[in-house]
Amino acid sequence: MASIRELHKQLVRKERSAVEITTETLERIQKLEPQLHSFLHITADLAMEQAKAVDQKIAAGEEIGLLAGIPMAVKDNMCMQGIPTTCASRILENFVPPYESTVTERLRESGAVILGKTNLDEFAMGSSTENSGFGRTCNPWDLSRVSGGSSGGSAVAVASEEAPLALGSDTGGSIRQPASLCGVVGMKPTYGLVSRFGLVAYASSLDQIGPFARSVEDAAILLGAIAGYDPRDATSLKVEIPDYAKLLRPNFHPKARLRIGVIKETFGSGLDAQVEEKVKTAIEVLQQLGAEIQVISCPRFGYGLPAYYIIAPSEASANLARYDAVRYGLRDEKAENLVEMYKKTRAEGFGTEVKRRIMLGTYALSAGYYDAYYLKAQKVRTLIKQDFDSAFEKVDVLVCPTSPTTAFKAGEKTDDPLQMYLSDLMTIPVNLAGLPAVSVPCGFDQDGLPIGLQLIGKVLREDLLLQVAHAYEQSTEWHFQKPTLKQK
Ligand code: GLN
Repeated sequence: MASIRELHKQLVRKERSAVEITTETLERIQKLEPQLHSFLHITADLAMEQAKAVDQKIAAGEEIGLLAGIPMAVKDNMCMQGIPTTCASRILENFVPPYESTVTERLRESGAVILGKTNLDEFAMGSSTENSGFGRTCNPWDLSRVSGGSSGGSAVAVASEEAPLALGSDTGGSIRQPASLCGVVGMKPTYGLVSRFGLVAYASSLDQIGPFARSVEDAAILLGAIAGYDPRDATSLKVEIPDYAKLLRPNFHPKARLRIGVIKETFGSGLDAQVEEKVKTAIEVLQQLGAEIQVISCPRFGYGLPAYYIIAPSEASANLARYDAVRYGLRDEKAENLVEMYKKTRAEGFGTEVKRRIMLGTYALSAGYYDAYYLKAQKVRTLIKQDFDSAFEKVDVLVCPTSPTTAFKAGEKTDDPLQMYLSDLMTIPVNLAGLPAVSVPCGFDQDGLPIGLQLIGKVLREDLLLQVAHAYEQSTEWHFQKPTLKQK
């Protein structure tokens, strides 16, 4: 599939209309969905309406932006007015939001064509999209394997060319890990760079929206469109947004003397040998491009996972208390009184993993345990951030694998939550520190499954991060590979 710039050129030269591009994309979705199940809801009418509006502008000789007429998919935890938003949870099965998230509002304003809402682990809790209340999403490189998660639907939609672009959300790895497992680019921006208004909250101090794309340049274009201050999100940062895509260069500037740090702790036990090999080769490529490579220690990196599984469920237990069946969503009508109604609805509406997190979080926050768990986890969070701070005194960018393994078989980890949690071992510390990070494809294992390289940047250095990722991508061929769409 063409890049965003190519599609844009085709549109302005009138070689193809937005309606044609959208129709072809919707047809491809129709064809592939029975195998993949990336989407929970397809907004074909809205897409055609938006495409027509762009074509009218072009016909009228008006200038259009880079995203005008470009189809894209949105993870189903971002509210769109009048369009069902379920978070892949039965409890929100019939919920139609009365308001629009800032990100989708910005996309609509840019003339983007919204194809539909993509599948996820229920309330973004999971690493395989198997926790969806509406069935799993399949990995296009091997349909018997998981897509990764929680933004599995968005990753698969982009990997399988059902959409050139998609939005995901990342609380502990939910953009980067599925991007890695599906062989696409996925980026989590600095906490506060992209507005969370209208994103259904999972763990508010960690959640961040970001792009999925087939190239770094396409991801940079989408990031530029959604980033920027929003008064409706209290954690939104008031910063200038550079033109990320314009700043990309095929090589590092020879005078830049870029210093890249390899996080020592990520090469320990549990790392798949083939992942290790490909990531090390990728680091050599970065060196050949002119970067100075150093091994860096982040001694508390490994404590990210346990700290996260206190902090994230604690915030989730508070955020999810609002699903009480009163205003919207599922309701058990047979209950005899209000408390019974809450209990029955929540017992029926939430899946196992969500219930586990609510219980973990409620426990960690309860009187007597708060200091031992929640407070301690917050202290660990600070230490992890300090490790990154001292690492960034020595280097400009950090690298490590995105995920310790390639895509695993569906069902392989569903009975063992700890194994599932380990899939985000290398992405979680980044959220705890609020840093930006991107996963780019860096090879395949012997089964033909994609491997991802994670690049981590200093706060608000998305520009540099994307430059490094782009230079790496341009000197490799991985992003040209196409998935087999078969079961192996
Ligand atoms: N897999 C992690 C979790 O289950 C991260 C999810 C996410 O980033 N939304 O919490």
